[in-house]
Formats: sequence, structure tokens, C-alpha cells
Amino acid sequence: MSRMNEIITRMINVPTVRRPFLALALCFAWSLVSIAQAQVQYVAPVERSGYQRVTSYDTLQAFLKEVGSTAVVHVEPLAKSKSGRTLAVAKVSSSRVFGEDAHKLRVLLFGQQHGDEHTGKEALTVLLARFASGDLNALLEKIDLLIVPQMNPDGSELYQRRTSDSVDLNRNHVLLTSPETRALHDLFYQWLPHVTLDVHEYGTMSRSWSDSGFVRIADTQLGMLTNANTSAEMRELQHKSIFPYIAGYMHGQGYFFQEYIVGSPSDRVRHSTTEINDGRQSFGILGTVSFIQEGIKWRTREDRLERRVKSQLASIRALLEYCSKNAEKITQIVSHERARLLTLAGQPIAVRMDHFTGKGELQIPVRIVATQHDTVWQVKPYHGEVRMQKSTLLPEKYIIEKKDSAIVQLLRRHHITVEEVKQESQVNVTAYMMDSTRRSEIEEEIQPLVSVSSHSMTKTLKPGDFIIPTKQLQSALLAIILEPESMWGLTKYEQFGYLLKEKQYPVLRTR
Ligand SMILES: [Zn+2]
Repeated sequence: MSRMNEIITRMINVPTVRRPFLALALCFAWSLVSIAQAQVQYVAPVERSGYQRVTSYDTLQAFLKEVGSTAVVHVEPLAKSKSGRTLAVAKVSSSRVFGEDAHKLRVLLFGQQHGDEHTGKEALTVLLARFASGDLNALLEKIDLLIVPQMNPDGSELYQRRTSDSVDLNRNHVLLTSPETRALHDLFYQWLPHVTLDVHEYGTMSRSWSDSGFVRIADTQLGMLTNANTSAEMRELQHKSIFPYIAGYMHGQGYFFQEYIVGSPSDRVRHSTTEINDGRQSFGILGTVSFIQEGIKWRTREDRLERRVKSQLASIRALLEYCSKNAEKITQIVSHERARLLTLAGQPIAVRMDHFTGKGELQIPVRIVATQHDTVWQVKPYHGEVRMQKSTLLPEKYIIEKKDSAIVQLLRRHHITVEEVKQESQVNVTAYMMDSTRRSEIEEEIQPLVSVSSHSMTKTLKPGDFIIPTKQLQSALLAIILEPESMWGLTKYEQFGYLLKEKQYPVLRTR
């Protein structure tokens, strides 16, 4: 007998006086059952199209409105794009108020920084539909989620990688000159997520690989932290624990999965950039377990769309599963690293590094062009190890003169604490003299490489000058962008090219 029939039977057998009360109770119970049974099943636009079409901006907005005020999903505007379109963030939580439970692990997922890479956005909308339908509530016991499905609505509508004003958002995480990247970093600083995932696509039809006889066929690739200044403990967690977990899940679902690599067999194959200017490493340098995911892209946007979206989603789900099972462990590692970042003064910071061949091996799934057979290929030449080539000691403070306030504006976009000098005073500092600037190949690109020598001096600080203490979460970030010999410093950007023009480098260090 069902529970409802049981209640009805009991009701028939009760004395008449209690019947009105019970009738009311019955109605109430019945309506609860009906609500539970009629749990709305939300369907993402890409599913509704039978995986025939990618989702337009307008359709995405309508969908976000639909799921945006359900039990666990709340959608809010995050920012306006350069052309005035809305970037939205979905806050997904089983708590009454998002972020209320400070013990929960916070995870930030964002997609489509590159407007022509749609499957990240599609996978994140399917994920939102599942959360809104109540299918994934178990995942939310230990984690709160922030989801920005579409970082670049303008590029998406124009079917182009860059924004409408031609910015590559995934190369704008140091300058933060675009409203889209700035909003993402503001969101990061508001919630300080422990884990972040930036979802992209990689082109598989590249000449450099087919000329070597291969086509890469991994459904998704997962990129981890590579900058030598990121936490060794986090990199180990990513490689030895998280990556194998996701790989096992993906293989179980019948998907090809591998670690993210760039380059080609005819030159060198390595992991992605050590630069902190992308959506992965810019958060990694702040003590975050951050990833980039690259789903496969075939000939067109729609080519094999269903498998592409589902494999992106599978890989994201596997990461969330891992996070919910290991929430305490990840929270601990992140807290430990963020505390360490406050104590780096006097410690070496890597300012130059490169990818080398090491002991590690890598096997990846490929299709042989000549036979069209799928097989596993041992990557050669595999430059799988990042090694530090030059370091500098982090000072207690950096000093920047009033005339260089453009640098300070940039630091403030990174929520870095800056003290403004109010009264004239004298301090002992170290200044850098520019010895030479030459052009050098860094990660297959020609960039300035600077050599300096340092000397001590007494500096008169004037009102309006700036002091930047390095006892901040952004300690390593500060050194990487301010040090003149840093390969990923401000000197590589056109806007700050003037820093190389003077005999004395304008940023000073306290001794
Ligand atoms: Zn991309």
C-alpha cells in the first residue's frame, strides 16, 4: 500500500469530528506529493535543439531567466560587455543564502572567453538545467558553485575568438582592461573560490599535427598549473589525485581524455604557458586549485556537437564529484597556500622559467592520418617539465612614484592594497639600472628580455608616491608583474614599454 492510500484508509476510519482537520492535512500532504512528483525538468537550449544548434545570446538570457530563480540556482547580472550585452553569473547552492556556509568549498566555472568556442557554454547550461531540476543536489552538500557560462557574448554573436573591440580575453588577465575580465576578477575577490575551471576548445584539424601524420582526438584535455611560483602541493594534488580521478571517470564513460598539451611534434610539445595572464594561472598564482579544460573542436561549430558538449560536461561533473568528495582536503591545501603567500618577503620568486624534457612520459590518443586508425602515441619530443631559470628575492615593499600611477591603477584592478605617501620622508631602497634589453624567444614568441644590475640609494618619498607592501595574497603576482627581469612582467606590454626606456627602472624596492 502506498503511503497516500494508507493515510486515506486511516482517515475513513476516524471519528467524524476529526475529519475536517484531517481533510485539510490530507490536502496539504497531497499537494506536497504533487509538487515532488511534478518536479520541473529544465532543459538546456542545446538539448532542446537536439544538439543541432549552438545557443545564441538571446536564447541563453531567456534560459538563465527560466532557471535563475529556482530552489538552488540564482542568476544575477555580473557586468556589461563592451557592446552592452549582459554577462551573468549563476550562484548554485543548497544553502539559504549563497556563501552562507563558510565550510563549503567554493568552485568557480566559466566558459566561452573565446567567442568561437561554444561547447563550454553549452556544457555549463546543461549543468545548470540539471541543478535547477534538482538532479544534482548531492553535489551541493559540500560545495557552492559560481557559474559564468558566457564570458564573451560579443565574440559569441560575431562568431569570433576575440571581443567586439578585438581583445583576446584569455590574454587580458594581467592588464584587466576589458570589462569582462575585470568583472571575473572582481567576482573572484568577492568569494575567493578554492577551485576554478576555465572551459575552452582546441582545434584538432591543425596542419602542424597532420603533417606529422596525426590528428589529435582527445574529447577533452585538462590543463593544470605550470608557473613555477604556484604551490608545489597544489600541482601535486592536481597531477596525482584530481587528474587520475577525472581520467578514470572519462574512460568509464567512453571518452578520450588527456593532459593539455600545446606545440607540435615537428617542434616541441609542452604543457600550456607558464604566463599568469590567462584564466587558469591568474587565479593559480593567488593560491587557487585552477584548471583549464579544452574540448575538441572539429570542422564547424555544430560538427559532432552532442558528443563534444557531453564530454565537456562529463569532465566538469567528474571535477565537481572529486571536489565534493575531497572538500576538506582541498580547503586545507588552499588555506595553507594562501597563508604561505603572506610570508614570501625575502624568499626567491621565479622570474624566468622554461619547459624542458624530463623523466616524465606522456601517451595521448591519436588518429593516424594515413590509415585513419585510432591508436595511442607516445609524445615526442615531450617537454613536460617546467624549470626555474632565474629568481629574485621578494622585497618587503615596492615603491612607485606618482608619475607612474598607471601601474598603481593596474594593481588596484587586482585588488592589491596600495598605500599613498602623505608626508615627505627618506627611505633606503634598491634601484635597478638597465644593462641591456634584447629580443628573445620565450615560449615560441619574440619578447623583450631585460638584464639589470642593482644599487642602493636613499630615496625621498613625496606626497602622492605609492608604497606597495608585499604581505598580501598577491605577493607572487606583484613580483611577476613588477620585476624588470621577469619574463611575464609589465615590460612585455606595449602600454608599459616605456618602463624600459629610462636608465633607471622606475619601480624601486625597499631594503
Ligand atoms: Zn580558447
